[in-house]
Amino acid sequence: MMKDIATPVRTKAILEKYGFSFKKSLGQNFLIDLNILNRIVDFAELTVNSGAIEIGPGIGALTEQLAKRAKKVVAFEIDQRLLPILKETLEPYPHVKVIHEDVLKANVNQVITEEFGEDQDLMVVANLPYYVTTPIIMKLLTDQLPIRGIVCMLQKEVADRIAAAPGTKDYGSLSIAIQYYTEAKTVMIVPKTVFIPQPNIDSAVIRLTKRPEPAVKVTDEEFFFTVVRASFAQRRKTIFNNLSSHFAQTIEKKNIEKALHAAGIDPKRRGETLSIEEFGRLSDELVSHLD
Ligand code: SAM
Repeated sequence: MMKDIATPVRTKAILEKYGFSFKKSLGQNFLIDLNILNRIVDFAELTVNSGAIEIGPGIGALTEQLAKRAKKVVAFEIDQRLLPILKETLEPYPHVKVIHEDVLKANVNQVITEEFGEDQDLMVVANLPYYVTTPIIMKLLTDQLPIRGIVCMLQKEVADRIAAAPGTKDYGSLSIAIQYYTEAKTVMIVPKTVFIPQPNIDSAVIRLTKRPEPAVKVTDEEFFFTVVRASFAQRRKTIFNNLSSHFAQTIEKKNIEKALHAAGIDPKRRGETLSIEEFGRLSDELVSHLD
């Protein structure tokens, strides 16, 4: 029987056969550890009826493990040089479809409609290219895909920021942007040695479970995120000072103060201490004072 793709011996043989050279600019760090791959797939809690969507299959290391557990796998790969390799390595898995496309430009909703039946349990599972981790996750969440969640490998530092709680140094607009849509948890820290080539930074696996409704109900979603970003513009400043600078042309200072009080928030607090619910209340109070 053929060895799994994610063994060091087979991976090296595949790379050599095709004379493949890694492109750092595409975040190409391939996994060569079956144990880690199996744990990633475990965290996705797939059943034989689940569908999996992968971003960046590389030479198919994770794709193969997904194919062994899911009913169907659809993978988006940007690098054309990997297509003939994937054709060979994934040949034993006819229920895998590779789409040659930049996932950031793809209409993922349409692909889901075309490739997966209605009401299918769907998970995104990926070892993400690190140069575009945040845009990819944000796209998957704001596109409102019919998925149960995302399990992905990414830079540990970004995982820390995504899963951070209020009052911690890592908590910021990224934590709120992602926790608005999902419950976020770092489930595994991953050593550099399981990749080829090895990245310079530490990695982690994060699980994002989609909430049935956003974490907080707000009257104007776009404005809510504006308030969040403005509140973190200068972390050392108070929430009142950050909001006053940002809304200098549009909301009078006295109204900013009124809104903070109405939302039950001390103007001297820093943005990093506010929960999502507090940001929700604040944004709903502030929006009524917009010129
Ligand atoms: N899944 C493989 C593994 O775990 O060994 C490879 C993971 S590697 C970290 C990231 C993969 O994403 C590479 O194959 C890279 O070519 C691909 N990639 C990079 N940017 C992409 C994009 N915008 N859309 C789709 N794939 C992309």
